[in-house]
Amino acid sequence: VPELPEVETIARGLQVLVHKRIGTVDVRLPRVVQTPAGADFSRELRGARISAVQRRGKYAVFRLDSGRALVVSLRMTGRLVLSRTSEPESPVARVVFNLTDGTRLTFADVRTLGRVRLVEPGEAWDDALGIEPLSSGFTPQAFIGMLAGRTTPIKVLLLDQRRIAGIGNIYACEALWEARIRPTRAAESLTKPAMNRLHDAIVNVLNRAIAMRGTSVSDYVDANGAEGGFQNVLMVYGKAGMPCCRCGTPIVRTVIGRRGTWWCRTCQR
Ligand SMILES: [Zn+2]
Repeated sequence: VPELPEVETIARGLQVLVHKRIGTVDVRLPRVVQTPAGADFSRELRGARISAVQRRGKYAVFRLDSGRALVVSLRMTGRLVLSRTSEPESPVARVVFNLTDGTRLTFADVRTLGRVRLVEPGEAWDDALGIEPLSSGFTPQAFIGMLAGRTTPIKVLLLDQRRIAGIGNIYACEALWEARIRPTRAAESLTKPAMNRLHDAIVNVLNRAIAMRGTSVSDYVDANGAEGGFQNVLMVYGKAGMPCCRCGTPIVRTVIGRRGTWWCRTCQR
């Protein structure tokens, strides 16, 4: 499932689209597109120029010169991949954007859980999303304030997109291991030094994963179809039974908040 580092890598790979103009749009599976009432997705986008490609949480955002935006949620198996309009189309293409210069952007999705949404200028589509963990506002103080009074298990809180946007299961597990914190701990029960360690671990893990172009453990590829590299340096995620790199104890998998969670019983306290 693409998390912040994967979507960031995709968005960076799609910077080549900035200033290009959309020609035709082919919607192969109408239920993946969401459009303002009364609007026709393909017709509304024809002729639109892409002014920026950004990321917000786990969403890719295409700003259009009309002030509208296309917001893409990749969910489980969604991909945004570039090609030429002359190349054969992906068999799981759901929406195909043909740019006027011969570039093609395909939203492909095996499981069809992803969505492509056209939002109006100023529409507050991301109001429910929390702080960006790589923004200057995500200070240790802000993080500590977020945990105060919260009895939620810290792992569950890290996955709550309304608090911090973009962290999913992989990076929550990895950050908690790096900070040596047990994933079941009530958020408010962490000591100040532990909260500081976790804050730094979140930022470090995300930055390292971006530097390695994301984690390809299942379907993720970047905008050019290439896999990431962070799956080769994971410490706990998916490592049940393997020795902890810090202490040698076998990594365990437990379920917390209905999500598989990998951690070390010895060095995560
Ligand atoms: Zn350990």
